[in-house]
Amino acid sequence: MATALNILNSVFGYPAFRGKQADIIGHITSGQDCLVLMPTGGGKSVCYQIPALMLKGVAIVVSPLISLMQNQVAALHEIGIHAAVLNSSLPHEEVHIVEQQLLEGELDLLYVAPERLLTPRFQDLISQIPLALFAIDEAHCVSQWGHDFRPEYSQLAILHERFPDIPRIALTATADPDTRLEIIERLALHNAKVFVSNFDRPNIHYHVVDKTNGKQQLLSFIQTEHPDDAGIVYCLSRKKVENIAAWLNANGVRALPYHAGMSPHLRARNQETFLRDDHLVMVATIAFGMGIDKPNVRFVAHLDMPKSIEAYYQETGRAGRDGEKADAWMAYGLNDVIQQQRMITESDTQQQFKQLATHKLGTMLAFCETMTCRRKYLLNYLGETATKPSCGNCDICLNPPDTWDATIEAQKALSCVYRTGQQFGASYLIDILRGNSTARVKQWNHEHISTFGIGKDLPIKTWRALFRTMIAQNVLSIDMEGHGALYLTETSRLVLKGQKKILLRKPSENKKFHTNIHDNPQPVFSPVEQQRWSQLHQWRADTAQEHGLPAYVIFHDSTLRELVRLCPKTIEELGQINGIGTHKLSRYGDHLIKILKCS
Ligand code: ADP
Ligand code: ZN
Repeated sequence: MATALNILNSVFGYPAFRGKQADIIGHITSGQDCLVLMPTGGGKSVCYQIPALMLKGVAIVVSPLISLMQNQVAALHEIGIHAAVLNSSLPHEEVHIVEQQLLEGELDLLYVAPERLLTPRFQDLISQIPLALFAIDEAHCVSQWGHDFRPEYSQLAILHERFPDIPRIALTATADPDTRLEIIERLALHNAKVFVSNFDRPNIHYHVVDKTNGKQQLLSFIQTEHPDDAGIVYCLSRKKVENIAAWLNANGVRALPYHAGMSPHLRARNQETFLRDDHLVMVATIAFGMGIDKPNVRFVAHLDMPKSIEAYYQETGRAGRDGEKADAWMAYGLNDVIQQQRMITESDTQQQFKQLATHKLGTMLAFCETMTCRRKYLLNYLGETATKPSCGNCDICLNPPDTWDATIEAQKALSCVYRTGQQFGASYLIDILRGNSTARVKQWNHEHISTFGIGKDLPIKTWRALFRTMIAQNVLSIDMEGHGALYLTETSRLVLKGQKKILLRKPSENKKFHTNIHDNPQPVFSPVEQQRWSQLHQWRADTAQEHGLPAYVIFHDSTLRELVRLCPKTIEELGQINGIGTHKLSRYGDHLIKILKCS
């Protein structure tokens, strides 16, 4: 029997396992269950694909992502693995063919949607054949609290009852401890070993800016940092998605929209275009992204604050799966918090759920307002302790903010909240503090209260930052029944008594945001190398088109770069390149040697 490492070398073309891959594969091939928590891009797939080749029988892979299964299977065909898909979008005849292949033992892997797996017909079918394992991908879909919840996932424990001897591997990139417990509970994985990887994504640069004119800020971010790159922009509403996509196009940035209000056909088409085009921006709601394995997404931008750290981590994790530099950029303001809080209040769910959602929103706000390393904050939240106090790759670490003591200003603001009866939102309170006699201020007769005009000296921007900070630190709370009115909390008392300080960031001298993303270019190619690089790119594009696949499925950029740099002369040398396994070698080897002309 080939060893796991042999298979990694010869089939996948990679020299060594990463992280815990080897342990996980060993565990599964010894017949035991496990739960794998690994960040996006960590390399989850080989953890079940290699055992599928080592164990007798077919591996059944459950995935919620019907529209992406076909691509995954095509990528496996590219490296010579026998895999197939069964889902509701297949015509009857094709279902029949796949079922035959299954019964005749011709498949190593079968990808199925959960609703198919749960049918008695399908279970009877697989009970007639040897099974290698069950892989449950995107296992966090069992979580009722998460936004990817799929009801069918909660019935997957049936596999354990019906096929108790077949090892199961559940995989997810969602790391929070509550979700982990829920997965174990609902999939009956109590005896499974849990493999937790390091969740840091060191190649992602985190950056959060105050939203002043979000659209314009986004445009200049893309124009200066990523003029020609693939990226994702997340917005909260469908309307905004359409609006931003149109605005980007009007300003010379090619963009497509994606949201649940579009027809499934159009959505699938835009997704497919995004996967195949390396210079396109996808503007989307959270409906987009799970399972998108495009390796070269160079940035993820948020124009609205996500509702939790989990969501933020998942969404930003879609950048830089290839391990090369990528940006996570966000513009946010107090209105984002109020909008999210309103959605929670108005949602049709139990009080307990609303409380949890409000708490999660609070930790997201605190992340935006933090004055220490953002990576450290994220990792702590995910239950990991960051070893270094500073990561050197977030806005805070690269530009440590100077702070000033704003406790007196905070006391003025709290007193203003109190004197106006705890029934107004931040904008109105700022009008009073700054002494603006607006019609509304006059109507409420607030020109005569003692806090009117006591904060003239501070610009609106600073007052806004102060209110955000106070909300993030729970010094003020938002009353949604009262349309976003702010009210005092236990912590307000501490500030009023001077027992808790409020620190604010000093306005930065508009230091230009720079991610250094292009500061570390690959060594410059010579003219001959440059020519080889262009020819390889052209060949890859043609081949991908011919096979109806995204270019990265043929070869990653890193493989092309290595080809140019090492310039292999023989098939044997070619086989040493990262990402070229035996199947691709025999299929494309001669051709590559001809293009490269290295001898
Ligand atoms: P995940 O599903 O965890 O997000 P994938 O399984 O898609 O990640 O793997 C991410 C990328 O890393 C893929 O391009 C994959 O081929 C590559 N990869 C996985 N394992 C290795 C390895 N041991 N060495 C090199 N590349 C790897
Ligand atoms: Zn940092």
